[in-house]
Amino acid sequence: MVASMRPALLDPLFAPATVLDGIGKKVGELLANVVPADTAGREVRVADLLFVLPHAVIDRRRRWEIALAPEGAIVTLDVTIDRHQPSPRGRGNVPYRVFAFDETGEIALTFFHARREWLEKALPVGARMVVSGRMEWFNGRPSMVHPDHMVPADEAETLPQVEPVYPLTAGLSGKVLHRAVLQATERVPELPEWLDVELMRRQTFPGFGAALKRLHQPADPVDALPESPSWRRLAYDEFLAGQLALALVRAKTRRLVGRPLTGDGRIERRIMDALPYSLTKGQQQAVEEIHADLARPDRMLRLLQGDVGSGKTVVALMAMARAAEAGCQSALMAPTEILARQHFATITPLAEKAGLKTALLTGRLKGRERDAVLETIADGSVSIVIGTHALFQESVRFQDLGLAVVDEQHRFGVHQRLAISGKGSAPDMLVITATPIPRTLVLTAFGDMDVSRLTEKPAGRQPIRTVTMPSERLGELVDRLDNAMAEGQKIYWICPLVEESEVAGLVSAAERAETLHARFGARVGLVHGQMKGPDKDAAMADFKEGRTRLLVATTVIEVGVDVPDATIMVIEHAERFGLAQLHQLRGRVGRGDKESSCVLLYKQPLGETAKRRLAVMRDTEDGFVIAEEDLKLRGEGELLGTRQSGMPGFQVARLEHHSDLLETARDDARLILQRDAELETPRGQALRLLLYLFGRDEAIRLLRSG
Ligand code: ADP
Ligand code: MG
Repeated sequence: MVASMRPALLDPLFAPATVLDGIGKKVGELLANVVPADTAGREVRVADLLFVLPHAVIDRRRRWEIALAPEGAIVTLDVTIDRHQPSPRGRGNVPYRVFAFDETGEIALTFFHARREWLEKALPVGARMVVSGRMEWFNGRPSMVHPDHMVPADEAETLPQVEPVYPLTAGLSGKVLHRAVLQATERVPELPEWLDVELMRRQTFPGFGAALKRLHQPADPVDALPESPSWRRLAYDEFLAGQLALALVRAKTRRLVGRPLTGDGRIERRIMDALPYSLTKGQQQAVEEIHADLARPDRMLRLLQGDVGSGKTVVALMAMARAAEAGCQSALMAPTEILARQHFATITPLAEKAGLKTALLTGRLKGRERDAVLETIADGSVSIVIGTHALFQESVRFQDLGLAVVDEQHRFGVHQRLAISGKGSAPDMLVITATPIPRTLVLTAFGDMDVSRLTEKPAGRQPIRTVTMPSERLGELVDRLDNAMAEGQKIYWICPLVEESEVAGLVSAAERAETLHARFGARVGLVHGQMKGPDKDAAMADFKEGRTRLLVATTVIEVGVDVPDATIMVIEHAERFGLAQLHQLRGRVGRGDKESSCVLLYKQPLGETAKRRLAVMRDTEDGFVIAEEDLKLRGEGELLGTRQSGMPGFQVARLEHHSDLLETARDDARLILQRDAELETPRGQALRLLLYLFGRDEAIRLLRSG
């Protein structure tokens, strides 16, 4: 359906990347590792390649003399070919050498497993050649192994002067990637300009196609920097696409006029009475803000932001209580099955004390059981429905959905937000996120949502003592855990997700569970992402109820698992995790009233960034501080699970370089929609192209003529 609405103009860019020369099926799949877009569930397209931006450039402009060329550097030489020295017969491991010279000396161009005929043609004796590659010294003589480029001197202009360097992945050479990227830019059609001319002049932005060409074929190294007008232009495009999409969603959801949800507080009071604690000031304030929103006739679009363990669930429950008082249903969506079940387990007893029925709907529910649950949702006998993506399915009909709560929103997208919006007449929306997103990012990820923040932790929480430890001391740690378990403590032991393609030396959760099992026996449990649902539940339940005391896990436990009496968190290969993720994981302990600790095991040697990250973790527990640090430290794809760590991802924009453009883009988007709400003017039509290019096209469906 989406494909048919897309202007045919863009077809060359939305073809699979395998249409490009040099990209077969296998390489096409490898591309998924280097393109910045999240291509899960689809093939890599030509358009994805446009945004694989260089992280460095090689400057080949300067001509060096052989005697003066710096060792180890990539240099370009002007040489004359003197003689060939093929590998001796039967000794293929001795390289083929071609000697070349200039006024200052001689160099050996060195080739392993070379084909003689090919080299004789490429480097004919007596020819003047320009060669470019890494300058090395071998046995005290200059040499260049497999030059990157070799062109006859009279074709020197074909040598790339400034060559972009792209992120690499095993099995994909830089040359193949560069060629593919260049072909992709050549496929960019003549596009109408969607940016304001005045803004472009002020910012010295080139056009979209020109910007891509300059980044991928820089004439000067500065052309390929994030600060360059070309990169900034694309970053602005990305921001604008995002802001437009969010503004369209917002306009649409606002247009569906909501209704005031008010109540007399009777259900709310019963829940309060059932709680073993009283609400913190922050929680009370959030509840008040939400209730005020609910009471207004237009729709609520509110983000509830709060650190791990800050007690967001009960705030959501108070919102749902108010909806019930107003006589309508609520839905609470969680990103994972485990989390949905957990919410269900927390909420149900409280809701029941207030006389409210709850239901759980996840993908695992099948057949007659599922039909029965659907029935209770449709006839209104259930007030609170808790579930996963399964809630979006067409077959789910509510009698009267008044409030939709979406937990951990960053795992969903605008798309899902719309799907749930379609479920009621115009349900109010409360989005909950446990990731402490810095303010600048709230804007990009959520647009103009109203925000409630829970900044204090519930009273009685103990600080978490965090220590870092090199993996060599693992044995010592295990001994101490033995004592801790003897005292009745519960321990999480997290191992990073290991993909098969990854280098050896990382211990997988299963392996670690095995070694710990050998030492501790049945006290050790294991839970990981590949396990079947019921097995996962069983492993969690065993741990929660104390049948196991040490739970080895992959990051499946990252989001929201609540075992209040777990007091020790061990994170193995902590250097592989991003800050946001480390923080989320650590938040799994320190939930009860006992003192907790977190051990960050790392493998030496540590890189600079990893060192800083671990230091930040040791020094602070403040999620907002950590989030800001995370933003500063974020390097190029070096973090494990960057995409899942909760920061909304960008393909092109780098916040440290482009955040000044963000607010302009937001204002721009607002102004555009004020003048042209349906994107129908010529500029509006051009902006639709922009939305497609940055994968924001779900928003186009909201337009009347979409
Ligand atoms: P979040 O979802 O924000 O990570 P939860 O809502 O899961 O946090 O709450 C974490 C724990 O804190 C739960 O065990 C909950 O019962 C408890 N809790 C919530 N609010 C309070 C409060 N005001 N006082 C004491 N404990 C609270
Ligand atoms: Mg929670």
